[in-house]
Amino acid sequence: MLRLLCITAHPDDEAGGFGGSLLHYARRGAETHVICLTPGQAATHRRGANSDEELAQIRRQEFAESCSLLGVTSGIVLNYPDAGLDRQDFYLTVADLTRRVREIRPHVIMTMGPDGSITAHPDHSMVSIFGTMAYHWAARTNRFPEQLQPDLTPHRTQKLYYGTAMFALRDRQPVSLPPYTAIIELGKEGLEAKIAAFKCHKSQAPLFPLFEQTMRGRGAQELFHLAASSAPKKMEMETDLFAGVVE
Ligand SMILES: [Zn+2]
Repeated sequence: MLRLLCITAHPDDEAGGFGGSLLHYARRGAETHVICLTPGQAATHRRGANSDEELAQIRRQEFAESCSLLGVTSGIVLNYPDAGLDRQDFYLTVADLTRRVREIRPHVIMTMGPDGSITAHPDHSMVSIFGTMAYHWAARTNRFPEQLQPDLTPHRTQKLYYGTAMFALRDRQPVSLPPYTAIIELGKEGLEAKIAAFKCHKSQAPLFPLFEQTMRGRGAQELFHLAASSAPKKMEMETDLFAGVVE
């Protein structure tokens, strides 16, 4: 059984950034897991929530609906502060993610790039940094050795991907995206499912028109940058994130 882990910052990132691929691999029989670090309680669009706590609760529910639509095996929203990941304790946060990687034992991890993805959100950059270190350190016996038990052993994930794109949004801060090395073709049905999953995040409804217009205009694909591999080689364009992975 192949396992794919997606690490994100906010409810809606799983759909907007990775939804097509999550569904694609669920349909191919892989286990898919999503870890979202914050419940998105600092969002501008709040669906009438009276407090951050209420918005967090709404967004956790929306996330669950989106994951369900995408066939995600397990989706979890952690309780880190939205818009505050750059002020979290680096060591403790990487420890948290490292333990989760050692538990889930994915073959492939996908997350955002340190660029912050097309929105250049600092939380996206920090998810990348925390997730990247968890990818590397989960494999090593000398990193967080206090976690290691007979049933929680080091785990070497074979590949790490950053989501990327071939365009920038207008009127945003400059962002320098990593070159793509993998293309996942979603097909028309996959694209529709991705848009539908994004629309599970009803609190973010004001973003729907721009999202839908962008997705329909860019074609039914998701692009990735291979950032690390347990079997390094000269890069060739991939069409499968599990290419070369040993089960
Ligand atoms: Zn986000």
